[in-house]
Formats: sequence, C-alpha cells, structure tokens
Amino acid sequence: MSGTLVLNASYEPLSTVSPRRAVVLVLQRKADLEHAVPGVHFRAAALDLPVPQVIRLRRFVKVPFRQQAPWSRRGVLVRDRHRCAYCGRRASTVDHLVPRSRGGGDTWLNTVAACADDNRRKANRTPAEAGMRLLVEPFQPTPADALVLALGAGGASAALPEWLAARTGMAGAA
Ligand SMILES: [Zn+2]
Repeated sequence: MSGTLVLNASYEPLSTVSPRRAVVLVLQRKADLEHAVPGVHFRAAALDLPVPQVIRLRRFVKVPFRQQAPWSRRGVLVRDRHRCAYCGRRASTVDHLVPRSRGGGDTWLNTVAACADDNRRKANRTPAEAGMRLLVEPFQPTPADALVLALGAGGASAALPEWLAARTGMAGAA
C-alpha cells in the first residue's frame, strides 16, 4: 500500500500521506478515519489503531490553487518523509543536487532529504559526479500536498504556518 488518501471535509480528495502521518492526523483530531486496511493495526506503547486507508479532515480547507508552496528545509524533509534519497535510511539533512556553492538554488527540484553520511559523502558534487543514484526524484509539491503536509507537522499544539493560514482561510477569515 503506497499511502493513505486524505479527503477534505467536503470529501474531495486532496493528497496522499504515509499511513503513519495519517495516524498522527487522526490522533491530533484533525482528521477522522474513513476506511482502514482490514486486519492491519499499528501497535505502539499505549496505542492500537487500524491502519488508515482513507481519512477525512474535520475542517474544510480551501486549497490555494494558484499559490506555490514556498521552499523550506523542513518542507523538503516532510515532502520526502524523512527518508534519504540515496539510501532510504532516516534523513536529517537536506542535500542540494547542484551544490549551492556552484549555483544550485534552494528549490524543490534541486533538493532532497539525505542522511548525514550520504550528504557528507556526496560533498561538493552532483549525484552523477559522485556516482550516487537517486532512489526518488524530487518534485514540486502541489498546494494540496503542502497543505496536508503542513497539517500533520509538529506536535498536537502546532498551528499552521502563517503563510498557509493566511492563504487558506484556516485562521478563520474565510
Ligand atoms: Zn543515506
């Protein structure tokens, strides 16, 4: 199973997230479970939850269709689900495919999540020069992707980033 479908409160499909992130959204009471994978459960210390296949946001979010998601290091890590683009292990750093020192920009298509080891190994080279293969291609998140990613970020008390709240009406303006 590749991911959990996220529906808007209006049942309109918005994006997909990892099942783990979907569980977080449900636990944060930002979304309700609509469908679960039969017979499969997440188990943790005090937690036994069905694995969500579809969840639905409790509050309607207005997707800013014409806005591009602004780039950020945290955004890249969240987009890539904290997996290293080179080895698949947990990533804590952001790697520039074309290094910044050589004119590579802070853009969604020039950056991937990377583990510290691979980031160090690649150094001031492109993946081709370093002989390192990308397991996943970087992509520009759609506004809906960015919205859903931002919803699940941080702890239960985390508010939406200001740029998102201002543009989606979740601050109450719309
Ligand atoms: Zn790695």
